[in-house]
Amino acid sequence: MKHPCDLSGRVAIVTGGNGGIGLGMARGMARCGASVVLSGRNAGKAKDALAALAEFGGDHRFIAADVTKEADCKALVDATVAAYGRLDILVNNAGTSVRKRPEVLSEAEWHLVIDTNLTSALLCSQAAYPALKQAGGGKIINTGSMMSLFGAPYAVAYAASKGGIVQLTKSLASAWAVDNIQVNAVLPGWIDTDLTRGARQQVEGLHDRVLARTPAGRWGEPDDMAGIAAFLAGPGSDFVTGAAIPVDGGFSAIT
Ligand code: NDP
Repeated sequence: MKHPCDLSGRVAIVTGGNGGIGLGMARGMARCGASVVLSGRNAGKAKDALAALAEFGGDHRFIAADVTKEADCKALVDATVAAYGRLDILVNNAGTSVRKRPEVLSEAEWHLVIDTNLTSALLCSQAAYPALKQAGGGKIINTGSMMSLFGAPYAVAYAASKGGIVQLTKSLASAWAVDNIQVNAVLPGWIDTDLTRGARQQVEGLHDRVLARTPAGRWGEPDDMAGIAAFLAGPGSDFVTGAAIPVDGGFSAIT
């Protein structure tokens, strides 16, 4: 039997990998032997992020891309293949939120969130598909959310985008199973990152509500996402496709 999480020789791209959940997933894959390309728009965050992979050894790098731009998604894949000669794993994790009630959300804000969180996952997957096929198969991991399951008054575009991620995942999984490409989604619970630090400032009482509602009794840390990424990127998940897996300390298990 192959080691279920052996990623040696594998090459991964993580969009939104220069911090937060993306970096947690990158650390899980690097720990299992993958070379990881961290991507994002902000090259300033890359130095610290790459330093967070250094303890595992290996050849990791940062490649800048704005995933709302189709040409950037393609260039990111092309630069990765040029550097490493292959691509095996794509993590579509870049995301953003505009916290406003639906009656005041502008069309531009709606498109910003949908383009960043949902359309980007399609564009990067399309860009990656030829290289994954060329490698004989591969893995795509899409970052959903508890908002893939639930709604919220201040998250109309965000929840729509994350619900869409689950259906995009199932559709890509069914289309590309024939190419030995497995496509799955992870649904993180409340994780302590830049994104949720902003939410905790804007939404009064959020911090305590999350604590009270999460059976694990704590907020998640980015490294809580390391194991699921290693699993979904590795041979152990070769018969897992089209799934949406909560990693939430039990948040979605209770009413
Ligand atoms: P962060 O703000 O730390 O991460 C967001 C990442 O997305 C950053 O690395 C950012 O990099 C990148 N990004 C944003 N817009 C773009 C863009 N247009 N092009 C390329 N990269 C972009 O927050 P999180 O780690 O929390 O979020 C990561 C993912 O996890 C998101 O999809 C989020 O929705 C999801 N999530 C988070 C939860 C949480 O509790 N934290 C819960 C559930 C889901 P840069 O600014 O350099 O472009």
